[in-house]
Amino acid sequence: MAQEKTAPQPKDWIMGIAPYVPGKSSGDGGQKLIKLSANENPLGCSPAAGAALNAASGSVDRYPDPGSTKLREAIAAKFNLDPERIICGTGSDDVLHLAANAFSGPGDEIIYVRYGFAVYDIAARRYGGTPVISEDNDYGTDVDAILAKVNDKTRVIFIANPNNPTGTLTPREEIARLHDALPGYILLVLDGAYAEYLEADEDDGALEFAKSANNVLVTRTFSKIHGLAAERIGWGYGHADIIGAMNRIRLPFNVTTAGQEAALAALAADDFVASSREHNQKWRQWLSDEMTALGNHGLRVIPSHTNFLLVLFDGKVTAEHANAALMDKGYAVRWLPGQGLVNGLRITIGTEDETRGVAKALREILEEAG
Ligand code: PMP
Repeated sequence: MAQEKTAPQPKDWIMGIAPYVPGKSSGDGGQKLIKLSANENPLGCSPAAGAALNAASGSVDRYPDPGSTKLREAIAAKFNLDPERIICGTGSDDVLHLAANAFSGPGDEIIYVRYGFAVYDIAARRYGGTPVISEDNDYGTDVDAILAKVNDKTRVIFIANPNNPTGTLTPREEIARLHDALPGYILLVLDGAYAEYLEADEDDGALEFAKSANNVLVTRTFSKIHGLAAERIGWGYGHADIIGAMNRIRLPFNVTTAGQEAALAALAADDFVASSREHNQKWRQWLSDEMTALGNHGLRVIPSHTNFLLVLFDGKVTAEHANAALMDKGYAVRWLPGQGLVNGLRITIGTEDETRGVAKALREILEEAG
């Protein structure tokens, strides 16, 4: 006889999920830290988006527009897309989960790169799929390694471009080569959470691919350069059949009214986006130079195309120790052992003061250790 069960039993694959570990904003003793651990915009959001949020706070008794219609139309107009082929989500995390849900399940394989974004693993496992990790190429995405993992069970491939937590960029030609080599039944998800931080000539062509291919989904977010992380607004663009499938399982009111209004305003705030990008480039370069100058302590910086730097520790001071010591000095950065990055710290570019401060703190930690 089957063993008697006295409590609800989660699916085995659910219990196989390691819960997402968010970036810290306070220390173990509850003290507030300068948060450079979640790749948020240190300059906040645009004044127009802030004003839209305030204005929307007066109308909370009605459900939001379930289809985020105005927002999809504005995104379409801005990027020259078909609004019918856009889906909005509770952050782009939602869109990534919907993609895994609609296109994979038990017995299917979902590929992502070693040192890929943590949510891919959760999204893959959540629906019973099997995550398959392809080897990186010195922390970058290796298209041949991905292709070597493709088989008839593969259903979805997740690539963040640029990638989190490595900051690396896969050039357009490599994305094209990957797409050309893939069987049509595989959904290629190109996650552009950091796309706005790229220079115009670094564009990976993701939206262009998705316009003509029937197996590409592009995801974007308002959480990063637009500074609206708390509102949870993201979007995806793909073939009408891809979006149609995802819309069947999307929660009906998945973007709040305030979120839709704020995102609309953010989309029009080109000056704010440009100045955020400029600030990021300046201080990313500065921090990269500072960290590179600490090379004698075993530090190495992975060249970044995002609003954070991955710094590797191969000297006397480990990443784990530096992470704890930075917290003691008031800074939260991201140590990611759960993603296999035992020897690295990911540091978000902050304001000028925050960026100078974290560099100084890290220098002191290294010099104290000798
Ligand atoms: N993709 C990548 C690569 C990310 O780094 C993040 C945020 N950490 C997301 C997606 C999700 O962002 P959000 O849900 O806030 O849109």
